[in-house]
Amino acid sequence: MSTDNQTTTFEARPLQTGSCLCGQIAYEITLSGAPPKFITLCHCINCKKWGGGGFSWNGFISCDQIRFTKGEEHLKAYADSNTGSGRTILRRFCSNCGSPIIATILGRTDICGITVGTVDGDVSETWKPQLEVMCKDRPVWLPDTGLKQYETTPEEYKKN
Ligand SMILES: [Zn+2]
Ligand SMILES: [Zn+2]
Repeated sequence: MSTDNQTTTFEARPLQTGSCLCGQIAYEITLSGAPPKFITLCHCINCKKWGGGGFSWNGFISCDQIRFTKGEEHLKAYADSNTGSGRTILRRFCSNCGSPIIATILGRTDICGITVGTVDGDVSETWKPQLEVMCKDRPVWLPDTGLKQYETTPEEYKKN
């Protein structure tokens, strides 16, 4: 049994739900035995455009850990090929309300990024980020979070 807080929290809440703003799309994430691989705040320009915020809050899980329970047909995908890694990222969002929900790498099913802001309930502790990436574009007004900060995205977190 792990004493890691992150793991313990996910063991207590092994199934979590999420939805877009309008509610047409809903999903569930199975976390029993497999907590997220990592949880990041990403400051890259593409994530700012993607979500319209100062940064994005992403939880990385296996694609088979997420299941759409409602409205998967309302998901639209934007193929973002202008990425730092050169890989095409499929950014899926609700075609009705525009909520960004999930990002996957074209042709890959082993990892996907969930926008933690669409997970239901208070997730500030359960989905606490572990690191900040692409800090070269970090907002100057954002106070220090105490998390590890990386100027770019380190190899071990490059989703490969
Ligand atoms: Zn929606
Ligand atoms: Zn990003």
